[in-house]
Amino acid sequence: MGKALIIGCGGVASVVIHKCCQNSEVFEEICIASRTKEKCDNLKKKLDGGKTKISTAKLDANKVEDIIALIQNFQPDIVINVALPYQDLTIMDACLATKTDYMDTANYEPEDTAKFEYSWQWAYRDRFEKAGITALLGCGFDPGVTGVFSAYAMKHHFDEIHYIDILDCNGGDHGYPFATNFNPEINIREVSAKGSYWEDGKWVETEPMEIKRSYYFDGVGEKEMYLLHHEELESLGMNIKGIKRIRFFMTFGQSYLTHLKCLENVGMTSIEPIEFEGKQIVPLQFLKAVLPDPASLGSRTKGKTNIGCIFQGIKDGKEKTYYLYNICDHEECYKEVGSQAVSYTTGVPAMIAAMLVMSGKWKRPGVYNVEEFDPDPFMEALNRWGLPWKENFHPILVP
Ligand code: NDP
Repeated sequence: MGKALIIGCGGVASVVIHKCCQNSEVFEEICIASRTKEKCDNLKKKLDGGKTKISTAKLDANKVEDIIALIQNFQPDIVINVALPYQDLTIMDACLATKTDYMDTANYEPEDTAKFEYSWQWAYRDRFEKAGITALLGCGFDPGVTGVFSAYAMKHHFDEIHYIDILDCNGGDHGYPFATNFNPEINIREVSAKGSYWEDGKWVETEPMEIKRSYYFDGVGEKEMYLLHHEELESLGMNIKGIKRIRFFMTFGQSYLTHLKCLENVGMTSIEPIEFEGKQIVPLQFLKAVLPDPASLGSRTKGKTNIGCIFQGIKDGKEKTYYLYNICDHEECYKEVGSQAVSYTTGVPAMIAAMLVMSGKWKRPGVYNVEEFDPDPFMEALNRWGLPWKENFHPILVP
């Protein structure tokens, strides 16, 4: 069908690239472009020989002109941004300049402020619409599949959804006392921030990790989970009509939390630059350099993830509850694509989204979140491409 330019070559990108190569009818040609070209070349070496033609390029995605030049040279149908949230706007600018469709898995975050929200990217709506191109925002698992699940529940199971609880459980064990499952800098910025949830049309803020619940997860067992702010709360709060409350919970083990607290207490999670031996360094970036690379966790991680949404609302005048979720096995992912389940559950939806935009099913000029499109082809593709979903009509509710 066409060509995709994939920007970034880390944990998530590696899964996207493997999945594009499995889906060579759609992805006839891909170019892998990232800051460290060696990583792109290594993946190309591993995957060359299949039907998808692979090329690589060195790219600094902070430089709009460089991205434009690469797009003009490669002429992709879509740019899949799986670099870091800091690069979202430069890549969107380059897509506008070249009239190329765009998608990503995380919303823009300025490097010097730990604050993420959609406003910066939603501000591109008119320009994308006028240019006749699509930007699809936040299409990993959460955000991403959680939005697809919400649209599916709305379309097939409810007249009104009043409550959504998004539960993200990682029951995996990598054997290290402390490591993060995706980019450590982004992960620690997310979990050390204040929590919040959306209720009756406004944000309710909590202290970091203030709200804790226990939940029994299918395939994993009983886990402690904590309320976090998360980006899809913002778009679902707007796009799901009649919604009264949306919360997001993520599980954390005690060892992770104890280490994080200690690192916070000594200042290692700060993003304020400090002077060290005559050089400016950001403590969190230094911490990232000494922590295990998330890409290296795959071979050691055992156990499963379980991510999904519990919906409560009304159907045909009666109260109804509905739980949609996916269980993913770390070791199975590693066998298939050489990555652990956190990268896998993000990379597979990114490939599916790119496929739907390229095929025209999810193509609409403007800037959109996933729940604004028809969920059915996406739900079908999840079953086909490695993330089958389960449903429960009588789930245990979160107090
Ligand atoms: P990694 O740190 O493993 O990979 C990031 C990649 O981007 C690296 O290859 C890095 O290059 C490259 N990169 C960084 N800066 C630049 C730049 N200026 N120009 C070009 N390339 C650059 O991160 P992950 O793969 O774990 O995460 C990727 C994205 O996925 C993030 O935005 C993350 O927030 C998001 N994510 C979304 C989830 C979801 O469910 N929606 C879940 C998990 C992650 P180098 O190799 O040189 O460091």
